[in-house]
Amino acid sequence: MAEKKSRPKMSERPVAERIRDFEEVPLGYTVEQAIEEAKRCLQCKDPKCVAGCPVEVDISGFLGFVAKGDFESAVKKIKETNSLPAICGRVCPQEDQCELKCIIGIKGEPVAVGNLERFVSDYEIQNPKSEILNKFQILNPKSEKIAVVGSGPAGLTCAGDLARLGYQVKVFESLHVTGGVLTYGIPEFRLPKRIVNLEVEYVKSLGVEIETDMLIGNVYTVEELLKEYKAVFIGSGAGLPKFMEIPGENMEAIYSANEYLFRVNMMKAWKFPEYLTPVKIGKRVAVVGGGNVAMDAARVSLRLGAKEVYILYRRSHDEMPARKEEIKRAVEEGIVFKILTLPIEYHHNREGWVSEVECIQMELGEPDASGRRRPVPIPNSNFRLPVDAVVVAIGNDPNPLIGKRTPQLKTEKWGGVIVTQDQLTSIPGVYAGGDIVRGAATVISAMGDGKQAAKAIHSYLSKGVE
Ligand code: FAD
Ligand code: SF4
Repeated sequence: MAEKKSRPKMSERPVAERIRDFEEVPLGYTVEQAIEEAKRCLQCKDPKCVAGCPVEVDISGFLGFVAKGDFESAVKKIKETNSLPAICGRVCPQEDQCELKCIIGIKGEPVAVGNLERFVSDYEIQNPKSEILNKFQILNPKSEKIAVVGSGPAGLTCAGDLARLGYQVKVFESLHVTGGVLTYGIPEFRLPKRIVNLEVEYVKSLGVEIETDMLIGNVYTVEELLKEYKAVFIGSGAGLPKFMEIPGENMEAIYSANEYLFRVNMMKAWKFPEYLTPVKIGKRVAVVGGGNVAMDAARVSLRLGAKEVYILYRRSHDEMPARKEEIKRAVEEGIVFKILTLPIEYHHNREGWVSEVECIQMELGEPDASGRRRPVPIPNSNFRLPVDAVVVAIGNDPNPLIGKRTPQLKTEKWGGVIVTQDQLTSIPGVYAGGDIVRGAATVISAMGDGKQAAKAIHSYLSKGVE
């Protein structure tokens, strides 16, 4: 039989239907598609895909089970190293990780590892009778207590891995809900909160305790935690929005993406008037930025009722950091991409609400420090775009509170906590990872850091700490 070079296409909800609600857009593989796709895997002896996975999932192992139709064993295999597979299967940039390394990608499309990870995780959720891993047994319970700050992907992964090793783990979360950006940032149509909650429950089922409404730095300092806990992992993320600092940026109806998405996800602004927390956006919305956050803000705007939604991005399509599939969906949904466009000033109406974004057209010059071609303004190319609201999605810096309240904790000038390869900070017994270390990055890099820190904490405690 001829080797198939391409993967099955996952079905998606039609555009006209999906932009009217917040339900999930891609529908997942069918059983037949999953088996067919898993059979394309060559079961390499030295699987390059695994080297591309920060949490070291045994990819060929789980794909082997999928190919045989044994989905329970497949999900079990994934969960040996990844406690959040239904989340990863939806939002991880596999195209830059495992799939980028897949050997089949040299001559055709790489095996759809992400789609298959999502398929088997959803299989487990839809077939709860299987009780595959809910009965996880801790073989070697230990008395040492470990504190984890933040219940985003970094904190959850570190906590889950340490609990499996037998430690008593408690997560302190400042919000009233768990999940970090997975819950308050990424919109429902990309990552249903039901899925996040189920995977948080799974981590809890490993023995992890989570206490919400606990702002570390205020309620307890890291120093105080160290009196009760043998080690601390800080996974408090990057939730401090960046602005361009251009004239008029503090006008009414100019939001940071953080606030905008938070109000939608957490305060259910899209269910107004059932929920009394609308976000006023009008009919024309400009979103500044070219990453996943910008795509999410633009697509949310459509679903909130905007008729014209623009992405304003200062570089070209090729440099956009957002996932290609999210850009594709945004285009399909009618988002207008104004590339090589830089906002330089906002103008307002008589009531003080933003009414126009003044932009300048850019062209690409020589590569800058990031290796990407530097956007350079074209003289006298200014134009004004009429808008009713603007969402600024140009990145976030690390949450500063813990750094400020922990004088011995060394941080970069921009706020990132400085760590060794083992995620150890400048304080013995205190580890950190995820966006608080890297700045706004990805779910899987945060999880990889959490995993690395759990290994390092285990080795630190195994040496016997007083
Ligand atoms: P977070 O997820 O930010 O979690 C940190 C947690 O710590 C939060 O719950 C916070 O409330 C809590 N906390 C903060 N300070 C304290 C304190 N002092 N005490 C106690 N708790 C505290 N990545 C992808 O890979 N794919 C995507 O498609 C993608 N899309 C994204 C879309 C949006 C809108 C955003 C904002 C980000 C997106 N990302 C995406 C990035 C990804 O979500 C983050 O990189 C990841 O969540 C970082 O994980 P973390 O655990 O380090 O931090
Ligand atoms: Fe399968 Fe590709 Fe990994 Fe080889 S590199 S084991 S073909 S997924």
